[in-house]
Amino acid sequence: MRVYIAGSGAMGCRFGYQLSKTKHEVILLDNWDAHIESIRENGLKVTGDFDDVVQLPIMKPTEATEVADLIILLTKADQLPKMLQDIKGIIGEKTKVLSLLNGLGHATTMRRYVPDESIMVGVTIWLAGLKGPGHAHLQGPGSISVQNMVGDGQSVADMIAMFNEAGLNATYDDHVINAIWQKACVNGTMNPTCTILNCTIGELFGTEGGLNLVQGIFKEFIAVAKSETDGIDEEAIWKYIIDASKKASNHYPSMHQDLVQNGRKTEIDYLNGAVVFKGKRAGIPTPYCQMITEMVHAKEAMLGLR
Ligand code: NAD
Repeated sequence: MRVYIAGSGAMGCRFGYQLSKTKHEVILLDNWDAHIESIRENGLKVTGDFDDVVQLPIMKPTEATEVADLIILLTKADQLPKMLQDIKGIIGEKTKVLSLLNGLGHATTMRRYVPDESIMVGVTIWLAGLKGPGHAHLQGPGSISVQNMVGDGQSVADMIAMFNEAGLNATYDDHVINAIWQKACVNGTMNPTCTILNCTIGELFGTEGGLNLVQGIFKEFIAVAKSETDGIDEEAIWKYIIDASKKASNHYPSMHQDLVQNGRKTEIDYLNGAVVFKGKRAGIPTPYCQMITEMVHAKEAMLGLR
C-alpha cells in the first residue's frame, strides 16, 4: 500500500514511524519548513518507547503526485480544509481517506472534498509529542478504532492488518462515533479548563470548583451526544474521564501545551464550540461550553491568533 500521512506533526510522526517498519510505502506530507528540512537532512528521530532514526520521504502536500491507497489525516482541526484541498490530486477512485483528528465534525469537512465511499473516520488514544523539528517523543500504550462511512469492515481488513503489523493496535468499530464522542468528552472537559486555569489535570480535578466545571461541561456533551447517536453510556464515559484524569494527573493537556506554552491556536471550535453549535441546532442549552469556548477564543485573540 502507498500510505500518505497528511499532517506529520507529533501524531503523524508516530504513525509514519511505526508504519515505516512494515512493508508498506510511507510518505509524510507537511507544511512546516524546519520540520521538512530536518527530516530530509537527518531523518526522523524518535525517542521515548523507541530510540531510532528513520529515513522517510517528506514533502509539501501540493508536491505529492502519486495516487494514494490510504491517506491518514493528522493535521490540527483548523488545518484540515486546506490540507484536503492540497491533496485532491492524490485521491483516486480506490483511495481511502482516514481522519484520526480529535474532535467533532471532521466527516462533514471531509465530505466537501472526498466522496463518501472513500471516507473513513476514527479515533486514536495513542500519545505523541514533538521535541522540536524532526524529533518525535512517543510514549505509552494506545489503540485506534476506525469505521468506513459506506460499507462494512471487510473491505478494509488489509488496512487494519497493516496497522496491527505496525503495532498500532487497530480495530474496526461499527459505531465509531461513540468512541469519538467519548474522546471528545475527555478533551472537552480537561483541555480548555486546564488551559484557562493554567493548571495540571490533577490540580483541576483536585478542587471542588474544578470538578464542578468538569461536570457541567460533561453533562452538556452527553446531552448533545445523546441527541445525535444511540448507545452513549454516560456512566462508563464518566468513569473513563476519571481514570484518564488519574493517569495524567501531573500533565498539562495538549491544549495547554498549544496555547499557553507554544502560542498556537487551539481545536476548541471542534470540541466545546462544536457542542455549542450542535446544541443550538437541537435546542439543548450549553452555557458551560459556550463560556469556556469564549474564554479560549479571547485568550487566542489576546495572543494575536484570531
Ligand atoms: P501537531 O501540532 O504536532 O501537528 C499538527 C500540524 O502542525 C503538523 O502539520 C505539524 O507539522 C504542524 N506543527 C506542529 N508544530 C509546529 C510548529 N511549531 N510550527 C509550525 N507547524 C507546526 O499535532 P498532533 O499532536 O500531531 O495532533 C494531530 C491531530 O491528532 C489533532 O487533531 C490532535 O488533537 C490529534 N491527537 C493528538 C494526540 C497527541 O498525543 N499528540 C493524541 C490523540 C489525537
